[in-house]
Amino acid sequence: MALERTLSIIKPDAVAKNVIGQIYTRFEQAGLKVVAAKMKHLSRAEAEGFYAVHRERPFFNALVEFMISGPVMIQVLEGEGAVLKNRELMGATNPKEAAPGTIRADFADSIDANAVHGSDSLENAAIEIAYFFPATDVYAR
Ligand code: UDP
Repeated sequence: MALERTLSIIKPDAVAKNVIGQIYTRFEQAGLKVVAAKMKHLSRAEAEGFYAVHRERPFFNALVEFMISGPVMIQVLEGEGAVLKNRELMGATNPKEAAPGTIRADFADSIDANAVHGSDSLENAAIEIAYFFPATDVYAR
């Protein structure tokens, strides 16, 4: 497996629940390193730009409202097979379908307030990382 980087966002619901540390522990225990991080209250334009691929979906406006409802914690995770590994840690989009022990099964309330975002491919990871972090803010460790 190759060393990869992926973008992770702890969404406003999980930040409000005060579980940033518990989620970081899961990344660390799975061998993923945080190589960039910042807390940020996204503007509407930033949230719309990030989720532009979903612009035509019926849930787009609600998703943007939710993502700007409070601060988020944004991080770049690095590790062997980081993209898939993070998706496995997250669990299914709908927490009702997420496997026991996954972040969404344990911390998410609904399909829209679902605790975390994670890049779904290596290609999208590169785009999403660049959306939030200049290369100089990502640290080799
Ligand atoms: N979403 C939603 N309703 C849906 C599907 C998705 O509110 O029916 C939101 C949810 O927050 C999800 C995000 O849109 O995390 C992006 O959807 P995607 O299908 O890319 O899921 P993910 O990659 O986050 O699991």
